[in-house]
Amino acid sequence: MKNKFDVLVLGAGMVGATTALALASNGYSVGLVERQDVDQLNTALPADFDLRVSAISPASQQLLHELGVWNDVTQLRCCDYQKMKVWHENGSALMQFSSEQIATSHLGSIVENRLLQAVLLQHLKPLPNVKIFKQQEVISLQQLDDRVQISTTNNSMLEAELLIAADGRESTARKLLNLPVTSGSYAQTAIVANVTTEKPHESTAWQRFLVTGPLAFLPLSNGQSSIVWSADTARAEELLQLPDKDFMLQLSEAFEFRLGSITAMSTRAGFSLSWHTADKWLDGRVLLMGDAAHGVHPLAGQGVNLGFADVAALQGLLKPGQPVYQYRLLRAFERQRKAEAVTATHLFSALKLFYAQQSPALCGIRDAGMSVVDKNAVIKRLVLQSAVHNMS
Ligand SMILES: Cc1cc2nc3c(=O)[nH]c(=O)nc-3n(C[C@H](O)[C@H](O)[C@H](O)COP(=O)(O)OP(=O)(O)OC[C@H]3O[C@@H](n4cnc5c(N)ncnc54)[C@H](O)[C@@H]3O)c2cc1C
Repeated sequence: MKNKFDVLVLGAGMVGATTALALASNGYSVGLVERQDVDQLNTALPADFDLRVSAISPASQQLLHELGVWNDVTQLRCCDYQKMKVWHENGSALMQFSSEQIATSHLGSIVENRLLQAVLLQHLKPLPNVKIFKQQEVISLQQLDDRVQISTTNNSMLEAELLIAADGRESTARKLLNLPVTSGSYAQTAIVANVTTEKPHESTAWQRFLVTGPLAFLPLSNGQSSIVWSADTARAEELLQLPDKDFMLQLSEAFEFRLGSITAMSTRAGFSLSWHTADKWLDGRVLLMGDAAHGVHPLAGQGVNLGFADVAALQGLLKPGQPVYQYRLLRAFERQRKAEAVTATHLFSALKLFYAQQSPALCGIRDAGMSVVDKNAVIKRLVLQSAVHNMS
């Protein structure tokens, strides 16, 4: 079995699989190591939508389009949204954003994570310069002068000039290298579910900020909405324990019945929320990307989009025919992407804090600020441009 590659990618999640495809398209040989059984991921469409969905920005769609993947995703199922509506429980201001304000066809698309990952793997599997090591985890990692070597739980010994760790928030590679992380808990849990609403979702991404956390309704192509209800942990635990009927009523009330009553609902799942940024993204011949390098609050729907921006930046730097390990280029990548991820992390944490304030004075300032944004076409365009271009 071939075990020497230009690049080893750890993790075939959305970011790792896209990285593998981008580098393979630039002509590098890639070994992709994933602990799950990737053959279980297929593009068959069960009637029920998966609970894990992401808002994929136009900039990320462009990357996926250039890699030949996006068209397949849109052929299967995804829902474009043209509008965003944002408001707060303590105030009367409503911020409305529309794709027309920046002359684009849409502001983003809601896609099931599992489906996007399955399409990426469908594109990777036939490539002659890609080998996938499924159901394997890295157990040791050794850095040598000219290469990096890993051993896996299936006794594979693999080596490459560069190892990209895209193995998620709890990155094993990051831990094996003892790379420090700056992190914090939001003391919140995000509850996700797919719901049927009385009124149509209007191809709009809705977000109501409650003092206990933001509640988003994201449009799905079957007319349902995917909800992400982030709430302080004690409140979220209460909500998760409620019988379906009571939860649907509380959800409708928390959303001010903007889409009428909730008439049906899938199961619910909860994710505890935290933020982190790895202090070092490049260590020897190991580079962190995606959630292995950074994690943000889901309120802006930017987590995986920041990861896709990592991939686009790396692909732009590593041109076909060049060595994959170029210290100067990789260091430049780390500087640029880390600065952006740190800014995004602080910005979203600040927004979360700002929207949680209850003092009457701050509520007044916030409401006035939201009205100003809503009335000012220039500010609106700036907000929209940063959302569709992955913050940059
Ligand atoms: C409730 C919620 C809603 C969100 N909504 C959005 C949104 O709308 N838009 C958005 O942009 N982002 C959103 N995010 C964030 C987004 O889900 C993450 O940023 C994204 O999943 C990160 O992708 P990744 O590929 O970096 O990591 P992961 O998705 O964690 O993938 C890591 C992969 O590595 C594998 N792996 C892990 N460890 C090992 C190992 N030791 N060896 C081999 N393989 C390993 C895993 O099996 C997995 O396949 C949301 C997050 C949450 C919690």
